[in-house]
Amino acid sequence: MNEYDSDRIINSLSANPVKDPSDADIIIVNTCAIREKADHKAVSAVGKYKKLKIKNPDLIIGMAGCVAQLYGKKLIKQIPHLDFVIGPREIPKLRDLVFDIKESSSHRKINTSMDVEEVFKVSPYHKSGKVNGFVSIQQGCNKKCAYCIVPTVRGSEINRPLKEILEESRLLIDQGAKELTYIGQTVNSWKYEGERFYNLLDYLQELDGLERIRFTTSFPRDITSKMVDSMKNNTKVCRQLHLPVQSGSNRILKQMKRAYSVEWYRDSISKLRDAIPDLSLSTDIIIGFSDESTKDFEETMQLIEDIKFDTIYSFKYSIRPGTPGELMDSHVNEDVALDRLHKLQSRQREISLENNLKQVNKSYKVLVESESKNNPNEFFGRTSQNKAVYIKNINKESIGKILDITKKEAFQNSFIGEPT
Ligand code: SAH
Repeated sequence: MNEYDSDRIINSLSANPVKDPSDADIIIVNTCAIREKADHKAVSAVGKYKKLKIKNPDLIIGMAGCVAQLYGKKLIKQIPHLDFVIGPREIPKLRDLVFDIKESSSHRKINTSMDVEEVFKVSPYHKSGKVNGFVSIQQGCNKKCAYCIVPTVRGSEINRPLKEILEESRLLIDQGAKELTYIGQTVNSWKYEGERFYNLLDYLQELDGLERIRFTTSFPRDITSKMVDSMKNNTKVCRQLHLPVQSGSNRILKQMKRAYSVEWYRDSISKLRDAIPDLSLSTDIIIGFSDESTKDFEETMQLIEDIKFDTIYSFKYSIRPGTPGELMDSHVNEDVALDRLHKLQSRQREISLENNLKQVNKSYKVLVESESKNNPNEFFGRTSQNKAVYIKNINKESIGKILDITKKEAFQNSFIGEPT
């Protein structure tokens, strides 16, 4: 979501991105507030640019995103070299804001209002020929997960009109995109004027020139049989699903207000796997929320043992201001939570590797995205299951093409492969 917003920031200013910050006229730090660590990082990132502002007083420095939304005025007070803060919903107004600052030199600006009308107005910058891109189909969130700051900083859910989704997709495809990832906080709850997420997949399947469709993040409660059928029948939809479970304990899920049980989650996974046997699965897990007991944690361990996800993104619970979780009596002690997190991650590393080893010497369709950053003789691509493959024995002409690649070596997070 932030990557997409950063590309919209570039487009809203018709800017040419530079590599070295000391060459920039404007520096904007786009921020994430989901955990405390990310929000500290954002403030220290702005601090780094103070020296550049002293050297060049015309330099404009701004902060965008969820930390800007959360602390607004406080940031302007605390950081004297910060010229403006702008919330995630206000990106379409960024251009006017920057011009205002340029004209009135001394005015510092705060724009953290929650515009509903124009929220999707600016499309992302897309480097010509780039193979993949993002399209937002939903802003904000109506779920009430007790740990989560998203509804506070990104507002309530707004679904993007179908016509705009198709237009933005077309724009990116015409600029060279072959694979688009459709994004929203609970992307599969998208609906607009009678159309539902499963219909949307049918429309996207029809887009000429688009080869692959991904979407994230899905909400477990909104996995329906119609959605599963649509994923199965639409051949461009990648065989990959990110489905955050958050905990393997019903007691904790209830306190988190996730609105589904572990049984519901397991049942959804069975239905998905029955319909799409080669589906790859990933999830998010929060450790140490509320009074998570050893038994609750063991239930989470059992869940990952049974499902055998390909990837897990796991986090130690971080208390966020203004969330229901902030008002709860107490949460698991830091050391205990860290210990559980390490146990979970270490078992998952083994599972990921075991899953990947089963794919060695098999051939997969890989969309070649770019040259490899690490090795000049290799190229980078991904399978429909979102597995990263470093490919030998191909050349630049293959970028943007889907090739049959045999996986020769497996690691925990990637493969080495060559043409079949
Ligand atoms: N709407 C998205 C949320 C994106 S945040 C979704 O449903 O997936 C990505 C992940 O960060 C969440 O799934 C959750 O696992 C984690 N997260 C959110 N709030 C958190 C918090 N306060 N502490 C730790 N992890 C958190």
